[in-house]
Amino acid sequence: MTEHVLVLNAGSSSLKFCVYGRLRHGPWRAEARGQVEGIGTAPRFKARAADGKVLAEQTLDASVRDARAALDALAAWLRTAYAGARVLGVGHRVVHGGSRHAGPAVVTPALLEELRGLTPLAPLHQPHNLAAIDALTERMPGVPQVACFDTSFHRGQPVVAELVPLPREIRSAGVQRYGFHGLSYEYIASVLPQVAPEIAGGRVIVAHLGSGASLCALRAGRSVDSSFGFTALDGLCMGTRPGAIDPGVVLYLFQTLGMTAGQVEALLYKKSGLLGISGLSNDMRDLLKSTDAAAKLAVDFFVYRAAKEIGALTAVLGGLDALVFTAGIGENSPEVRARISTASAWLGIDLDTGANRAGGPCISRPGSKVSAWVIPTNEELMIARHTSSLLGLD
Ligand code: AMP
Repeated sequence: MTEHVLVLNAGSSSLKFCVYGRLRHGPWRAEARGQVEGIGTAPRFKARAADGKVLAEQTLDASVRDARAALDALAAWLRTAYAGARVLGVGHRVVHGGSRHAGPAVVTPALLEELRGLTPLAPLHQPHNLAAIDALTERMPGVPQVACFDTSFHRGQPVVAELVPLPREIRSAGVQRYGFHGLSYEYIASVLPQVAPEIAGGRVIVAHLGSGASLCALRAGRSVDSSFGFTALDGLCMGTRPGAIDPGVVLYLFQTLGMTAGQVEALLYKKSGLLGISGLSNDMRDLLKSTDAAAKLAVDFFVYRAAKEIGALTAVLGGLDALVFTAGIGENSPEVRARISTASAWLGIDLDTGANRAGGPCISRPGSKVSAWVIPTNEELMIARHTSSLLGLD
């Protein structure tokens, strides 16, 4: 009989899911993935098989306004598509695990209470992640759940890497550098020994370049620093987020331009970065195609910031053995990879242009002092593996 693990990633207006299946004790394989999107506005359900074939696509009733109703829609589809199958566990992506959780955790009432306390640290994501856990507890009370945190992989960094240099009373209110995209980095670190054994034990920078973008410095597969900090606003230029800016700019927005907290939040999370610079799009594909000067500047800045932060993390690592590209832009744009690699040529990256165009995995020439790689990330599989291992299914 086939066994299943369900992976959920709940956001403000979407519930993404992935169904993993295996024959008894075999490896977990993604069988179907999809989402309920437009929750609260124009809800739609879509599911695809692993090969991309559309399994279901439908407009949902407008009453699908929250995680509970979205989960009901997903459960209704699962009941038909997976009639008689056993869901052994559900793994959730949870953005914040605070400073205590250095790994995933089985959901209990006490854990939920603790995670609710972290909501002020990630107000845009944590409530939606927890609402999905609540909805599942209510609708499928017998199914065990695991919370997998985007912050966990970064715990254990040196004290100086986590420090936000403000007075103790502010720091004790939880102000520290947490780092995010941890499930993606953990996945990459987990496959390095098979994909690129020669660098797995060395000094590696992973560039997760998607609509959110960050870098992680790995030493022997462990995170020693990353470009994200207290929130996912820090570091690299992103689709709609600026990355690191002088905090004096934020004071100026409040004090001189008279903006409200809500306006500043919307500016920093939704209107800046590639979209803000170009005034055209937050999508790298649009910017690369455009002949507009502002679009060109947005791409130039994206590359400039990435190369600058790669230099900074190389200093943290005391040298560099390899650079790994992943996520939407990192996996799919030979042009951006080439530009970042060229800007980092001083480190000893000798790009193989043919291999880069072909998509890797290794995209540097033999003998390149620092090797370069393209490795697709798989955060959902990481969550499925954690869920299986924590629930004793392995
Ligand atoms: P992600 O958040 O990892 O799903 O990445 C999404 C982003 O990847 C999109 O916003 C695009 O900007 C970018 N992307 C996807 N495909 C390409 C491509 N072929 N070339 C450049 N950028 C791409």
